[in-house]
Amino acid sequence: MKVTEHFAKAKGKTLLSFEVLPPLKGGSMQSIFNTLDVLMEFKPPFIDVTYHREEFIYKVRPSGYYEKSAIRKRPGTVGICAAIMHRFKVDAVPHLICGGFSVEETENALIDLNFLGINNVLALRGDARQFEEKFTPHKFGHKYALDLVRQVVDMNEGRYLDDDIVNGEKTDFCIGIAGYPEKHFEAPNFEIDLSFTKQKVDAGAHFIVTQMFFDNENYFRYVEACRAAGIELPIVPGLKPLTKRYQLTSIPRKFFVGMPKDLVDAVLKAKDDEAVRQIGIEWCIQQSKELKAAGVPCLHYYTMGDAATIREIAAAVS
Ligand code: FAD
Repeated sequence: MKVTEHFAKAKGKTLLSFEVLPPLKGGSMQSIFNTLDVLMEFKPPFIDVTYHREEFIYKVRPSGYYEKSAIRKRPGTVGICAAIMHRFKVDAVPHLICGGFSVEETENALIDLNFLGINNVLALRGDARQFEEKFTPHKFGHKYALDLVRQVVDMNEGRYLDDDIVNGEKTDFCIGIAGYPEKHFEAPNFEIDLSFTKQKVDAGAHFIVTQMFFDNENYFRYVEACRAAGIELPIVPGLKPLTKRYQLTSIPRKFFVGMPKDLVDAVLKAKDDEAVRQIGIEWCIQQSKELKAAGVPCLHYYTMGDAATIREIAAAVS
């Protein structure tokens, strides 16, 4: 079932959904099952699985020279989605990214997903590789998520990259995109960023999932700005609890989001990491309850491998 159909079926009830990361290469699928075993009691209608581009790694050779090679450290998104659907009988939402993939590789991934009966995707650009200053598209790949949305829409209309394919099977993907309540870090300002989001919506996106935020006012303002710009799609808040003191700086550095003074003050006063975790959980529960009361379609939690913490929050909210 499509994500938007789940929202329609819920008739205004707030759903809970979760995002998981593929294990590092060499890891086991069991780690994903272990995470989801803990969270299935909350009846998520869908589970997101992130997608990861290749990274450059450097190995020192006996000669002392460094050898550079490219490796995808977390492959397997499509297979993981199929395994999740098979085992838990829930829908899976694979993320698809532009970075590192040619348009043909993307088309082939979409064909695999279609054949597996997976009809939701979250269409994203992806970030720059680690240690690279800015995002560089694949030589034959997309530059913006907008182009990826257009490619999925083309396939939904039976148009493939090869014009010789006539009467190609029409896929039926429900397309999600990313939204940034505190603006995307590269955008010169909030309004311009929103105008690019509107382009993705006009191109055929069906729902928006937001970057994490710690102040609900940012989400409410964002929704208001979207509605004023004519964006009427469901806007799913993405949430991540703060659990470690060092995240006071690592989260803003990595995700370009701010943290409210009350949260920061409480974390700074906490006596140890367990106390920080409790503060983060309580903060996330309060955020979730307020968002639920405001009637959001779904609370979407970034699990980041910490099922126990997300379980505590979901139990308090559901
Ligand atoms: P875009 O919509 O392409 O926007 C990127 C930047 O370009 C923005 O600054 C935008 O304002 C600007 N822009 C857009 N269109 C144009 C245009 N036509 N002309 C000029 N500028 C333009 N990353 C992963 O690698 N894997 C994941 O699984 C993943 N999952 C995510 C899930 C969510 C919910 C979110 C919020 C992010 C996720 N990311 C993931 C991170 C995401 O890929 C990055 O934030 C990335 O930097 C931007 O992606 P985007 O899809 O928003 O890009």
